[in-house]
Amino acid sequence: MENLNIPPFTFPAECEGLRQEVRAFLAETIADRKPEERAENWSGFDRDFSLKLGARGWIGMVWPKKYGGHERTSVERYVVLEELLAAGAPVGAHWIADRQSVPTILKYGNEEQKLSIAPRVARGELCFCIGMSEPDSGSDLAATRTKAEQIADGWLINGRKIWTTRAHNADYMIALFRTDFDPTAKHTGLSQFLIDIKNTPGITIRGIKDVRGEIEFNEVTFDNVKLAPDALLGKVGGGWAQVTGELALERSGPERYLSSVQLVVEMLDRADPTDSHQVAELGRLVAEMSTLRQMSLGVAGMLSRGENPALLASIVKHQGSLVEQRTPELAHELFGPDLGDNGPSLNRVMSHLIQVQPSFSIRGGTREILRGMIARGLGLR
Ligand SMILES: Cc1cc2nc3c(=O)[nH]c(=O)nc-3n(C[C@H](O)[C@H](O)[C@H](O)COP(=O)(O)OP(=O)(O)OC[C@H]3O[C@@H](n4cnc5c(N)ncnc54)[C@H](O)[C@@H]3O)c2cc1C
Repeated sequence: MENLNIPPFTFPAECEGLRQEVRAFLAETIADRKPEERAENWSGFDRDFSLKLGARGWIGMVWPKKYGGHERTSVERYVVLEELLAAGAPVGAHWIADRQSVPTILKYGNEEQKLSIAPRVARGELCFCIGMSEPDSGSDLAATRTKAEQIADGWLINGRKIWTTRAHNADYMIALFRTDFDPTAKHTGLSQFLIDIKNTPGITIRGIKDVRGEIEFNEVTFDNVKLAPDALLGKVGGGWAQVTGELALERSGPERYLSSVQLVVEMLDRADPTDSHQVAELGRLVAEMSTLRQMSLGVAGMLSRGENPALLASIVKHQGSLVEQRTPELAHELFGPDLGDNGPSLNRVMSHLIQVQPSFSIRGGTREILRGMIARGLGLR
């Protein structure tokens, strides 16, 4: 059985100054953001905001200065992320790149890829998307079929990706393709590629409307797309190991328990301190969120020490989505469908979250897949 111990964590006192700095910046830059816009949380998209954040040195905080980073600690980065999410700042234009795409490039990419991409992301100039899921392989990533065939002057790509968040806004995609078509090479036949999806001919991006009628994710078709040899990211056949490391980064951050935080704020604002049921239920919710925060911080500490927290990251993501999906239900139970004097902002935030919450246990790995991983970690399968 893998070690399930998450080391406890306390923020060093010097982080408090940084926290206050971020709060002051947010009070200045997003003061007029409406509660329902704040509820979009890390999917809110605003390139100008990313540029402002980049100018403050709050993107790529832990990357080497040589690659445009700021060589701050991962704890300092965590403080900034928490404040951005708690305030509902529109971080969607740089979030994926900061969280996983550039860390993957810095780990596996060549010098040219690192130098040409990372500094621009740190300045808030580039948006990335993740090309993992395909129509017939979402949970079973190793079943990826989109082909990357080696040709004389590079690679020829044919196939389709789906559910690609922000592909319609993105500058780059890191995609997982099949480079070995032998059926025995299911896991060893995959490779990652770094693709300029705005300027490469043969790529078609079709928006898919979600339940709100909004387009956030897309279908991306590759039709005889030619990529240069240096589009390969890391080793040929190394895609599986690279992608599983990337998923650990994707699963453990504070966004996994703070996507519904605006609704918690609205409920706390409206709660009646003399209503013991409301008080007890909200107390329980905040206690659960505090526990998740400790777990997520523990995982961040492990990542910063170069340890592999894949199992613990799955537990954080799983528990986070359970709590987050229960939050709109709790709001409904405590404040009712007819909000009356409870105020329209609670109503609007709740309406947004009720529509998007089913996705919390799908995006970044479904509940069943995470439970399977946890069971394996416990030696149960
Ligand atoms: C909001 C959102 C954003 C997303 N953004 C991206 C993105 O940017 N890039 C990207 O690549 N993907 C993205 N995805 C896709 C997401 O990661 C996949 O939808 C997810 O991995 C599930 O794959 P699938 O849809 O093919 O479902 P399937 O894999 O077909 O699963 C269907 C159901 O079967 C269950 N199931 C499947 N296999 C097993 C098993 N072995 N054991 C038990 N149960 C199983 C699943 O849990 C699920 O309930 C996004 C999804 C959402 C909802």
